[in-house]
Amino acid sequence: MNVIEVSGLTYRYGQFVAVAGVDFTVRQGEIFALLGTNGAGKTTTLEIIEGFRKPAAGRVRVFGLDPYADRPALSARTGVMSQQTGLIGELTALETLNLWAGLTSRKDSAQALLSTVELSHRANVPVDKLSGGERRRLDFALAIWGRPPLVILDEPTTGLDPESRQELWETVEHLRETGTSVLLTTHYLEEAQALADHVAIMHESRIQVAGTLSQVLSEQPARITAKVPDVELPKLLGEVSLDNGQLTVQTRDMQADLYELLLWADRNAIRLHDLNATQASLQEIFLAIGKA
Ligand code: ATP
Repeated sequence: MNVIEVSGLTYRYGQFVAVAGVDFTVRQGEIFALLGTNGAGKTTTLEIIEGFRKPAAGRVRVFGLDPYADRPALSARTGVMSQQTGLIGELTALETLNLWAGLTSRKDSAQALLSTVELSHRANVPVDKLSGGERRRLDFALAIWGRPPLVILDEPTTGLDPESRQELWETVEHLRETGTSVLLTTHYLEEAQALADHVAIMHESRIQVAGTLSQVLSEQPARITAKVPDVELPKLLGEVSLDNGQLTVQTRDMQADLYELLLWADRNAIRLHDLNATQASLQEIFLAIGKA
């Protein structure tokens, strides 16, 4: 089942086209990562899906409803964590959650949620006195308050230390296990790589690459590296470079080239030191898109 359907989405700030014909779907129970360069149009896209902006053209449906026209109905089913925190400095973490309890129809326990986001020990500390990372975790707690079936997170881990980031990932994974759909943006490619079922990469207002992680990763050649002796190399499908005994093969058929290389090493009784075979990383794909 599709929770979010976006087709031909276009949005303008005055004459400037911030989102130009974007299409994607988020299925129930998946984590979908919208990645992209700065200013690519990710936040604008999220704000349209959240019902805060009206598209100039195209169609957006969230649980089958128009988010702009049906925002009140959808807000009960959608938890949102924006880039800018809307927290009130004088309220404590616990007071913030209790205030939120009165504003939303979703039900939850403030103490339990503080424990989920590892803030129980900071329950009575005013927001002003929380660290940036702790405020981000409180923002996250508000988004998942009452376990809405859809959670939208705009750069949720920016400002978090590696340990807090890891904990937030685990909570997000747990949400998925319970059937929650998650749409997130991030600049941390390893985050998308660790979490996302589907990714879309935006650049200059458009989605340039989209699919499952393995589909997107297969857009760029894989790489095999090893230290090799000065012996004639086998014929490989990929692009081979040899620099001072360091072999690098950029290949679209890793299995075939790795097989040939191992066969060659075996026949010639060669020990391949530091042998490594890896798929392209999202980082490489990202950089390739930025340069195109
Ligand atoms: P980032 O990763 O830096 O947060 P983004 O992909 O989320 O970027 P958006 O915030 O959606 O990008 O912005 C897309 C483009 O629209 C940018 O060029 C930005 O400068 C422009 N823009 C965003 N908000 C406004 C606004 N209120 N008025 C005019 N232009 C805007």
